Order: sequence, then C-alpha cells, then structure tokens
Amino acid sequence: AMVEPDKKVDSVCPYCGVGCQLTYNIKDNKILYVEGRDGPANHGRLCVKGRYGFDYVHHPHRLTKPLIRRDDAPKTPDFSMDPNDIDKVFREATWEEALALAAKGFVDIRDSAGPNALAGFGSAKGSNEEAYLFQKLVRVGFNTNNVDHCTRLCHASSVVALLECLGSGAVSNPVSDVDQAEVIVLIGANPTVNHPVGATWMKNAIRNGTKLILMDPRGTELSQQATHHLQFKPGSDVPMLNAIMHVIVEEGLVDKDFIADRTSGFDEMKRHLQKYTPELMEPVCGIPAETLREVARLYATSKGSMILWGMGVSQHIHGTDNARCLISLALMTGQIGRPGTGLHPLRGQNNVQGASDMGLIPMCLPDYYKVDDDEARGHMEALWGGKIDSKAGLTVVEIMDAIHAGNLHGLYIMGENPAMSDPDANHARQAMSELKHMVVQDIFLTETAYLADVVLPASGFPEKTGTFTNTDRLVQLGRQAIDPPGDARQDLWIIQELAKRLGLDWNYQGPADVFAEIRKAVPSMGGITWDRLEAEHSVVYPCEQEGDPGEDVIFTQDFPTASGRGLFVPADIVAPDERPDDDYPFVLITGRMLEHWHTGSMTRRSNVLDALEPEAVATINPITMDEMGVKPGELITLSTRRGSVSVLARADIGVPTGAVFMAFCYYEAAVNKLSNPALDPAAKIPEFKYCAVNVTPG
Ligand code: SF4
Repeated sequence: AMVEPDKKVDSVCPYCGVGCQLTYNIKDNKILYVEGRDGPANHGRLCVKGRYGFDYVHHPHRLTKPLIRRDDAPKTPDFSMDPNDIDKVFREATWEEALALAAKGFVDIRDSAGPNALAGFGSAKGSNEEAYLFQKLVRVGFNTNNVDHCTRLCHASSVVALLECLGSGAVSNPVSDVDQAEVIVLIGANPTVNHPVGATWMKNAIRNGTKLILMDPRGTELSQQATHHLQFKPGSDVPMLNAIMHVIVEEGLVDKDFIADRTSGFDEMKRHLQKYTPELMEPVCGIPAETLREVARLYATSKGSMILWGMGVSQHIHGTDNARCLISLALMTGQIGRPGTGLHPLRGQNNVQGASDMGLIPMCLPDYYKVDDDEARGHMEALWGGKIDSKAGLTVVEIMDAIHAGNLHGLYIMGENPAMSDPDANHARQAMSELKHMVVQDIFLTETAYLADVVLPASGFPEKTGTFTNTDRLVQLGRQAIDPPGDARQDLWIIQELAKRLGLDWNYQGPADVFAEIRKAVPSMGGITWDRLEAEHSVVYPCEQEGDPGEDVIFTQDFPTASGRGLFVPADIVAPDERPDDDYPFVLITGRMLEHWHTGSMTRRSNVLDALEPEAVATINPITMDEMGVKPGELITLSTRRGSVSVLARADIGVPTGAVFMAFCYYEAAVNKLSNPALDPAAKIPEFKYCAVNVTPG
C-alpha cells in the first residue's frame, strides 16, 4: 500500500539555477517523494533531478561523526570508499575535539605565516546565509580575502563583462520572458539538459511563434526547434559575433536613438568591426556569410530579441570577450531594458547568483563592492566590527598554484569538491595533499574530503532553512524538512562554532538573524523581509525598500555604471590555449548531463538517477569514431598532456566531428584530470571547453 506522508514542507530544488519550487513529502524523518509547486520559475514543473534526486540524503555514505585524520595516514590522492580503508585514514572524534583542532590549525598558520597563507572555498549549493557567514569568517577571522567558490569555474567571465559594460552582473530579464520575445538567441547552452524547466519556457515560446536561433558547436535537443542552428567551430565565438555585428552596422540596423541616449564607445566599436566581414569570418567560424547576415537581420529587427547563454560562452580563455560581444549586440540594437529582450547568463548551481551576491569572491565584498574601495570597505568594517584587507584575494586556480609555490598552507572548504571540479584535477589533488591544514565540511566523504585533516559532517539541503537566489534574481526560501543524521550539524552552526574559536564573538540565532544583517550589507536586497519570504516564498531583487514589488526587468531607464550608460568593449580573436596536434589530435569539451549533477556526489547516490546513467561515458560523433577505430560501447582511453581516464564510448551525432564530449560527474573517470587550467586573463576562468586530447581503444 502507498505510504502516506505525515508532513509536507514547501521548499526549492537543490540542483540548478532555475530554482523550481517543490514540496517534500515526509514520513518518520524520511523523504517519500517530491512534488512540483507553483513557483514563478517553474509553475509546478520539475525535471528528473528535482523529482527523483532526493534520496541521497538518506544514503549510508552520509557523514554522521566528525573525523580526524590519523597521524600516520599518508595523503594519497587515490580515493577509496571502502569502509576499511576509510577507517585506516580517519578516526571518529567529538565535535569539541574536531572544532578545536580545526580552529587551532588555522590560528597557528595565521600567526606564523600570515593571514594570506590561509584560504576558504565556500559553495554555490549553500544558502545565502551560509555564503555570507563563510566569507565573513574568512575576511575577519582568517583576515584574508582569499575566498572564492565555483562561480570562478562557471560564469566569472560573464560577470566581469556585465559589470564592466552594464554595471551589474545579474540577468536583465527572467527566463520566462522568452514568451514575450520574437527571437531567442541561445548560445553555448544546452538547457534541456542543464536547465530543463527553463527549456520548457523556451519550447512553449517557440510553439507560440517565437523564433529560436541556436549558436552551438554541439547539436542538442533544441536544434530540432531552431530556425537557425549555427554550428560554429569550437572557440570561434568572437569572430562569429563580430561578423553579425558588422552586418548590423553595415546595413544600418542599429538603434541610433538607444546608442545616442544610453551608451558610450560606439564609434570605436564601429571602427573595430570594419575588418570583421562575414565573408572573411566564414572560414574562421565555419558559418556561411549569408547565414550570418540572415541571423543579424532577424536579431536586430525583431520587436524583442533575448540572448541567453551558458558555459559554452564563459569557459574559455576568451570567455570575457565572448560575453562582451553579446552585450554589444544587445546595446547596438537596443534589445535590452524591455520585457522580451535583454541578456541572461543561465546560472548553473541553485545559489551561484546568491553566493556571489553575498561576497563569496576574492575581489568583492557583499553586493559587489570592490575590496579596494575604501568607503565600501569602511562601511563593511563598521558593520562587522573587524578589519578587512584592502587587497583582492586569490581565485580558485590561483589558490592551488599558491599551495604548490609554498605560499599557502591552510584551506577551509565548505561543500565544494575541487578534487573533481578543478581543471587539471591531479594538480589540484596534489596541491591539497601538500597543505599543512585542510578542513572540509560536507555531507559525504568526497574526493576532496578524503585529503582533509579534519572532516566536519554537515547538513543536506532538506535539513536546513535558508534563502537561495535563482538565475532570475528571485530570492526563495528553502525550508527544513528533516533532521540531519547522527551527529551531523547544520552548516551555520559549524561556521559559527569555528568563528568563536577564531576569536569572533558571533551570536546568530538562526538564518533569519543572518538574513537581517545581509539586508544591511546588500542594499539591493534591503527591502526583503524574512516575514515576506515566509508568506510569499520568493521575492525578486532589486528590492531596496520594504514593500517594493521588486524588479523582474532591469536597465529600463539607465545602467548602474558611473555614467549611467552602457559601454561597448571591442573584442579581438584569441585562439584556444591548446590546439590539436599530431600527439593529441582531437578536441575535448567537458560539461554536464541531465541525470547527474556536477561532481556527482549527490545524484550518483540517488537511486533513480544512478539507475538512469550508471556508467561513465564519453560521446563522440560516429564519423570521428570511425576515424579513431572505435565502436560504441567499447572502452576507450582519453589522454591529454595532464592525465588520462578510461571510459565507455557512446555515439552522438550532435558532437562536432573531431571532438569528444564528457561530463565531469564520474569519480572513476574524472575528466577534469584532463582539462586545461589556462585562464581567461580578466576573469581567471579556466578553459574547460577546449583542450587537445588523444583517444585510443582499450
Ligand atoms: Fe531542479 Fe533545475 Fe530541474 Fe528545476 S530544472 S527541478 S531547479 S534541476
């Protein structure tokens, strides 16, 4: 017989940035099933992850006791989940002992080697309150700005370009606005896989007559519904977009009034674009000149054109340039500042927007005030009652390099898994194993936690209450539905206990208390009250005064830059850092898949999702498979200059010829051991979307 729930708790989905609202159905502290709820981003819909990816919280691998590394246990980066092996590496401890040891390690390093020998990685899966307290602890407890999180690996380049050109890093319009657009430009994104409920808005808009222009080297499910699919050569975004803008200028399709009233730098942009004719760019990007002209006309002349993009744009050494081009496209045509227009970088994690807003980044305090802005820093120092360093801290990849260089000795990681998610993951694992002191706070003994000195058992998403900001700038309330298992504790409690032992006198009674302080630190959220979140479940920001409805569409009057104008920033062609050669003749593209989330620690421990995609696979175009002498279902080895993994080959006509695509969720075939850590100079984002790889059978 069907088991009836004894409790229903309204919350949000813990996975992607769409931010679907859902209801947990609970019996005896166990989640029975999940239902979609009528939230602004999902209208009751859920994808397979939201619906079935909940039972990881009940998995026997959950950490239920603090762990301390045994003195004689070597830090080998080879990971094993065998309980006997774990027992050889760690021993169980009380919270008192673990917290004391965790704090002492940081204090010793801070006092002997200086504050900048410490760093912290927070998480885009934690709540706003957790992100806020974590970065506060690093800044005024460790006394360094070395604090970052996985936004560095996903949309750092988009945010740098948006802040530079428009003065705000957030999206201009919500995803659901596509239903008011005449044209959607979707570039470097695969939303049916990575933002599935977001994709339903697009599909329904298309059904009602909206045209989809897809720009992606990969064929995806949405290619079938696109009026144009520009399958450009991987890495050739800038030449393609410049050619489109060239046509818009050449054919007089620009919005002269918008350019005159609301932008600056257009004349220089116009000169810059002269050399980018579609005919010259055709061989560079692989798109016929006539197609580039058609697309330019469609985008520029429609009543409303909206651009949405994903990691295909951002994860390049020219990721910031790619985003600058998209922004220029919108500015020169006036396709921004109205419903059904604008720019939307699709956020990946459920709270990557919020974590960045909260200051979980090394160069910015909460609400993107630069750490070297004396006035802003002074304001935050007064609020926090502590000194903040005026120098920007190190980013994710730079922190790993600093460890190798012998300059950084202590690392506190909350809910991130760099052993799986960092580029050149062997290098990252090696770096972490060289640390004098590493504390990891997580719900599983991840590949990263395995290298820690102290492991602190934390709470899963349904085990705590907090706010999460989705890709549309909606601040939504996630509510506690069940209790953490064993001695696992809520993350806010753990951060605060550590803070106390670092000499900070904090006394937050719960998430509402922390949120009250966030309202003072983040003016754009100053009008959102906890009561209103309780009553309405979600509120969109900017919402500066209590009672403000919040703004779905921003940039309607001006841009929040110093001049109030949007800025054109020209971009030139930059080749990928590592191109195919005789030894490594193919291109490796990494990304995600529908069933598994990021490094797989949650979804691979969810029964239904694991059953749907149980094995590590790499997808390759059948034509290229023939060239490689590989058959579908066969074991292959992928090798780059940094490492190799073995994986099953799967045929996919959507993958461009000459390329291999692989998701980074498999611990047994961690593709980030292969990826290239070369960085975009402006945003310090690595080039996950392009490196040279060799493929051999077996
Ligand atoms: Fe969760 Fe994203 Fe799926 Fe919605 S679309 S259910 S937020 S993973």
